Order: sequence, then structure tokens, then C-alpha cells
Amino acid sequence: MSNRNFHGSVFFISLLISASSNAQSDYYTLDDYAKVDKIDTHIHITTNRDAFVEQAKKDNFKLLNIVVDLSKGPEFIEEQYEYGMDQKTRHPDDFEVATSFSIKGWDEPDWMEKTIRWLEKSFDEGAVGVKVWKNIGMVFRDKNGDPVMVDDPKLDSIFNFITEKKKVLVGHLGEPQNCWLPLDEMTVNNDRVYFEEHPQYHMYKHPELPSYEEQVAARDRMLEKNPDLVFVGAHMGSLEWSVDELAKRLDKFPNMSIDLAARIGQVFYQTIEDREKVRDFFIKYQDRVLYATDLADNGSMDADALQKQLHDTWLLDWQFFVTDDVMTSDRVNEEFEGLKLPKGVVDKIYSKNARKWLKMFPDQ
Ligand SMILES: [Zn+2]
Repeated sequence: MSNRNFHGSVFFISLLISASSNAQSDYYTLDDYAKVDKIDTHIHITTNRDAFVEQAKKDNFKLLNIVVDLSKGPEFIEEQYEYGMDQKTRHPDDFEVATSFSIKGWDEPDWMEKTIRWLEKSFDEGAVGVKVWKNIGMVFRDKNGDPVMVDDPKLDSIFNFITEKKKVLVGHLGEPQNCWLPLDEMTVNNDRVYFEEHPQYHMYKHPELPSYEEQVAARDRMLEKNPDLVFVGAHMGSLEWSVDELAKRLDKFPNMSIDLAARIGQVFYQTIEDREKVRDFFIKYQDRVLYATDLADNGSMDADALQKQLHDTWLLDWQFFVTDDVMTSDRVNEEFEGLKLPKGVVDKIYSKNARKWLKMFPDQ
């Protein structure tokens, strides 16, 4: 009898110990930051210096460098691509590249063939995907003066080629909804600064151009036509203002995921309004969200200042996702509480989803 009691209490104590150690290990802490493998899936390096990658290695981040068609022609794309490939060659375990293509020459008969040839070369050299940028839909006009939208049938040949090659399309299409609002009605401070500095992209001032709704609708029609295309909606798929709207698209398009690049402010903003809703979104769509920042290095910033900016940005985001600390950010004007997501969700958002959707570092 006493023997049974003894065993019973040992069993009970060991249950208690395993329950409490489970509770402790369900969540990461701020101190786990450097220990956990992480990938930033949206950065821009256009320099040969190593300051960015060195800080990333210290902070246990791997990187996806994204080339962008800034409407300056193919030479400018090749230049960014070469910077990226140089970094990838020197840091193969930590650095991947997504290429892009130039819209310049769109009306010329050999544009398609040249574009496919360029993409093929990029894929042969290891690019994991292709970025399509907001100049499609917002800036570029064809020979008739009409904006070319991303669901233009001519682009389907390119998207088919990307699908055939089992690569990924990263789409920055449209802009945050704030872009169509006056500066004083924008939800986050970083958008206010950006559109004040880039009035050519501030659509509130350009009512003659396609609306926010038209940009998102063209993207949705493109995805409807290309169900097998693996698509990463950069900048929260331009639906950064509402996790409900985003959830609708993720439900509708099973091959769509999103990156968080430069839209964490909108996540903070929605967390101020309804933390549980935002937290539920990240848990429900834990397989569809990629951590990303849009941090950049063009070689002009002092290396120490750049490294501090990288570390501070990454660490603040980590604190937000893993703790329930009450926090502040210069992007929003009120306090908000961290989401304290479970470890399994954090691991997916911070690296597993990037490895799955973008096939990054397949040999690791
Ligand atoms: Zn970017």
C-alpha cells in the first residue's frame, strides 16, 4: 500500500515537472533571439561590402536579397543581380537571391524572348524566384499610353515559365492603402514619411491612375489565372491594413503566402486595435507568413550605424512576436502588446515557411 502511494506520488511529481517544463518551453524569450535560426526574406543589398551579412550572421539570420525593376532598364537589374550573386558566392550558406526582369522594351517584338532568356540564366545560376514590382500597374505605360496591369495576358508566358521551372513569383503590386489617403489620415508614420518624400508614388495626388481596389483586383485575377504559380505577396500582399482581408485571399489562393516587409507598422497598428484578432491570424495562417523587413544596404551608410539599425529592427520584431511585453515603436503613436506566439508558429514564420515556399538553402 505504502509502496503504491510512493509510486503514485513520484508519478504525480514527475507529471508536475513535465507540465511546468512544457509550459516554459512553449514560448521563446528575448534571450533566445540569437539562438534561433531565422531568415529575413526581403532585403536589398547593392554593395560588395559585407557589413549586412556579418551582422546577420551574428544575429542568426539568413537572407533573401531581392532585385527590383525600378524602371531604369535591364542594365540596372543586372547590376543589382551581380551585387546579389557576389554576396551569394561569398556567403553561400547564408544568402539567396531573387532576380527580376525589366519592363523596358515591352512593346518590342523580342521583349518576351529576351526576358525569358534572362530569367533562365538567373535560375541556372541559383536564383530562387522572381520579383515583379509596383511599376507594373502604377507607373509603366505601353505604346498607347495605357497602364500595364499584372493580369495582362502577355505576362502569363513569363508566369508559366516561372511555374514550369518550379520557382517563386514575389509580387509587390499596388501599394499600402495609405498611399491613396492624405498624409494626415495615414495609419503609420513610416508611410507618411515615404510618401512625403516620393510624391510620384503618392496616389492620393494622382486620381487619374488605377485605384487601390483596381491594383488588388488585377493581382487577384492574375492568381486566378495561374493557380499553380507559387506566389509570395510582398508587403503583406498589399492588404496590410486588414488581417480579415488578407485571410480571405489566403483562403482563396492556396499557393499564396505573404511577407511582412516594411509593413510591421500596420501589424502594430492592428494590434493596438485588436490584439487577439491579430494573434489569431498569425496562428491560423502560421504556414503562410514569411518574416521580412525590407532592410537595405547600398554602401552609403556608416557600417556601424547600419549594423545597429539591422540589429535593433530585428530584435524589436522578435520581442513583438515572442513576448507579451508592452512595447512602443516609432511607426505608431500608441503602445501595443507583443503577440507571444507559440514556438512552433515562430519557427515557421521565421524560417520554415521560407525554406518550404522559396526552397531556400535546400541542402541545409
Ligand atoms: Zn523591397
